[in-house]
Parts: sequence; C-alpha cells; structure tokens
Amino acid sequence: MAQRILIIGGGFGGVVTAQQLSKKRLKDTEIVLMTDKPWLEYYGVLYRLLTGGSPAEACIPLKMILPGNVHVLIDRAESVDPVGKTVRGESSAKHSYDTLILAPGSEPAYFNIPGMQEHSYGMQSVKQALALRMRVEECIASMQGADDARKATLGHFMVIGAGPTGVEIAGEMLPHARELAQKAGVDPSLIRVDLVEAMDRVLPIVAANASAKVLKRLKSLGVNVLLNTAVESADAKTVKFKGGETVNVSTIIWTAGVKASGLLSKVPGLELDRRGRAVVDEQLRAKGVEGIFVVGDCAVTPYAGLAQTAVEDGIFVARVIDAQNNGQNLPVYHAKIPDYAIPAGPFWAAVKYKFIRAYGIPGFILRRAADFHVYSLVMPWKHIYAAFFGKIPLKKYGIEIS
Ligand SMILES: Cc1cc2nc3c(=O)[nH]c(=O)nc-3n(C[C@H](O)[C@H](O)[C@H](O)COP(=O)(O)OP(=O)(O)OC[C@H]3O[C@@H](n4cnc5c(N)ncnc54)[C@H](O)[C@@H]3O)c2cc1C
Repeated sequence: MAQRILIIGGGFGGVVTAQQLSKKRLKDTEIVLMTDKPWLEYYGVLYRLLTGGSPAEACIPLKMILPGNVHVLIDRAESVDPVGKTVRGESSAKHSYDTLILAPGSEPAYFNIPGMQEHSYGMQSVKQALALRMRVEECIASMQGADDARKATLGHFMVIGAGPTGVEIAGEMLPHARELAQKAGVDPSLIRVDLVEAMDRVLPIVAANASAKVLKRLKSLGVNVLLNTAVESADAKTVKFKGGETVNVSTIIWTAGVKASGLLSKVPGLELDRRGRAVVDEQLRAKGVEGIFVVGDCAVTPYAGLAQTAVEDGIFVARVIDAQNNGQNLPVYHAKIPDYAIPAGPFWAAVKYKFIRAYGIPGFILRRAADFHVYSLVMPWKHIYAAFFGKIPLKKYGIEIS
C-alpha cells in the first residue's frame, strides 16, 4: 500500500520539503501539503509593502512552485492524533498520514502584556502589512484640520521590538510617512516614529559594531530609538512603560516576540521548549512521538527563526526520508551559520555574507540580491523576475488579497 507523507504548512520549510521529496521519486508514496492558504508568503519583503510595494512580491502561488506529484490540501490543521496517525482540519475532515512533517511556522508572542494583542498591529502576513500601510495613510489624512494636540498623537507611531523586523519597519515607515504628510499639507516634523527595545542595543542578534552602525543610521533618519525600555501595558491610545511613563500614540506595531505555532501544543506527546517549539533529534524527528519530523521555526535548532534555516531543514528531512526508504544510513543534521541582510530605511541595509560586511547602498544591493536568491530557492527561474518586481498575476492563480 502507498505510504502517505503529510506536510503541514506551506511556508519555506513545508514547500521545500515537498519539492525535495518530489525530486526523490520515492516508490509508492503520496506527498500531501496541507496548508491554510494557496500561497507561500515571503515575509522578508513585507516591509516593502509599507511604502507601496506590491503584494505580488510577497505572495508566491503554490500552484506556480509545486510539482504535479504534490497534492495541495487547503485546510487548517487543528490537532494531531499521533496514535491514530491522523490530523483534524478546521473543515472537520480527518487526514491520515504515515509520516508527518510539521512546518506551521510561528506566531506573535505578547508575553501577557495587558492590551498588547488587542491594540497592536503586526507584520506576519501580507494582510497585516497592507493594514498597517492603510493605517498610516488614515492617520495622516486625519491630521489635516486636527488641533495641535490631536495632530501630535495621530502622527506618533510606536514600533516595539528592535529586532530585524522592527528595524525594517521603523526605517521604512518614517521617511515614507513624512513624505505623505508633506503631500497632504501637514507639517512632516509632526510625524514621529519610536523604536522601543528592552535590551541595551538595536538588533541584539548581530555583532555590536553592526548594531551601532544601524543605530546611527536610524537616528540619522530621525527614528526615536528608546533602548532599555520595557513596555508594561497598552490600550487603544497609549503605551505605558515599566517605570511609569505613559505615552500617547496613534498606532502600536508589535514585533518584539514570536513563539511556535499553537498547533504544536495540540500534538500530544511532543516535547516542547519554553517558546513552544518541538525538541528534535539529529534527524529532525520530534522527540516523544513516532513518525513526526519538524522543520523551520517550529524545531528547536540553533538558527530556527530564519527562512534560510527552514529551507535547509526541508532539504535535510527529504534526505532522511529518502535514506530511510532505501535502508541507508541516516544523515546527521548540522545547523548552518546564517548570514543576514537587514534593511534600515530607503536604499540602506546592513549585510553579513560569509566574510563580507556591507552597509548603506552596497548593503541594499546585496539585500536585493539576497531576495532574488530566496525566490530562486523555491521557484523556477522563469518566474523569479515576476516575483522580484511584484508582477506575479495573483488573480490568474485565484488569489485575491484585500
Ligand atoms: C516580517 C518578517 C521578516 C522576515 N525577514 C526574514 C529575512 O529577511 N530573512 C530570513 O531568513 N528570515 C526572515 N524572516 C523569518 C522567516 O520568514 C521564517 O523563519 C520562515 O518563514 C519560517 O519558515 P516556516 O516554514 O517554518 O514557517 P512559515 O514560512 O511561517 O510557514 C508556515 C506556513 O504554515 C501555514 N500554517 C500555519 N498554521 C497552520 C495550520 N495550523 N494548518 C495549516 N497551515 C498552517 C502558514 O499560513 C504558513 O503558510 C522574517 C519573518 C518576518 C515575520
């Protein structure tokens, strides 16, 4: 009887696993990719949507990139029964598997900060990026004709978390919002973007000298960087810092924490770490349950949380399954040290690529080259230009983003 490999999640980890398994031409094997939407989202370019970039840069239709022998199942996985080897979908259908690959990615963690989840904007989907873009435009439109106090609040945007996403947003948003204000006849100096970080520097994950360069860049743009500042609570109009100060803002953008998809807590027997990620062995098999692999953001590996890691994981798991099928020795997982290319405002990025360190315009060029490379990891060459320039005809693939 044919074996059924079920992959949950149509992001980088899930898609690359499916593509690689497909290439292995495994005998009597059905490959099913179960995901909640018919496209892969490239989060790395979402910041570009804030300033008018096309959703077609970030949405890659699965039909465009998955081979014919991968069956796509659009359903949201709600829970897994590892004994019966079934996954229950939002549709109430039960989907069986012989081997399960978990790749549902991550979701925001709000650390129980009162009001934060309800009152903040996020940046984990094309829809969220477009909602934020619209919010900035609305605030600036409302500044016209408002009194001075109201103008100051409407023009005040607060990004919480100075990791790569927070830096990308703050750097992109401030010059763009000031330009919009100028066009709307509003004094651009009334636009204020705070970047709030609990640690003592921006980009705590990069080397101190790179962090210092990015801080200088953000300050030169006019971003108000608040370090060693922790948030206590938020509501629709204010943010309260630990220590007592309360600030009036129009818009809060939360980028300060992520945890693994809540789906993992619905898989009985999985061993999870404090961020809800699954502990895995040297073959990326979940500890505690049989027949389940974990890739990407959901696996406890040294560099989880990056698209490059999710891609490596997908390639690796396909190799393990192939070796298993052929009765060969199983490969051992080695985490690859990641590079980074972090944009900080128009035509500027901080880049580490192997021995190369680049900042400013050279960094920006390398960053765009990195985007090109990321597209090439999941799609055929003939489609890369369309993705890079935001020209994928999404409607043709039945995708409407509103
Ligand atoms: C704003 C932002 C910018 C980023 N920039 C970069 C960057 O520049 N470089 C970099 O390397 N990394 C970057 N990352 C991180 C990177 O995008 C992730 O690490 C990577 O996407 C993880 O891949 P994944 O396959 O584990 O999860 P994802 O890519 O998140 O894919 C998970 C998929 O599963 C689907 N899904 C979720 N739950 C279910 C369910 N229950 N049932 C069915 N389907 C489900 C989701 O809709 C999604 O399609 C960025 C992340 C963000 C948020």
